[in-house]
Amino acid sequence: MENLNPAFLGFLQAIQNSPQYPTKEEILAEPTLEYNEVVIDILKTFKRKWQICSISEERFYVLKEMAKDIGVQYEKNPVVELGTLYCYQPSVNTIVLGPEPSIISTLHELGHAIFGASEKDACRFSVHLFRMIFPKAYDRLQWDGHMLKRKEVVCRVK
Ligand SMILES: [Zn+2]
Repeated sequence: MENLNPAFLGFLQAIQNSPQYPTKEEILAEPTLEYNEVVIDILKTFKRKWQICSISEERFYVLKEMAKDIGVQYEKNPVVELGTLYCYQPSVNTIVLGPEPSIISTLHELGHAIFGASEKDACRFSVHLFRMIFPKAYDRLQWDGHMLKRKEVVCRVK
């Protein structure tokens, strides 16, 4: 370690000390974001479609439709396409969906398309909307840092 350039070490330390991601408390802080009725309606319609999906292709189809429709409401008109990992590419205004259909991840990248690079804004947008539309599913998730994950199902054999 002592052979490393002190400026480089300082840089590493700065990255560690200023995490890019918000805490759970910052994400859930009141007041929550406000959403217009059309956005809520788009998500309610999406929920009904999502619940009858049985394969990934169908889930990706309704996720893409929902992200585009909400993007239009914010006058962003993002392109939504499938890829290898969830991300938003600002230079081409494109939301890329990862290998597994995920509502929270799609909403998160949509948050970047709407609000820009801020992780706090993207996390707040996605988590609050998900909690509002899917309250039961939200209760089944657990926090891992700034991320919400499915609780591990532990199978106990007696
Ligand atoms: Zn992000």
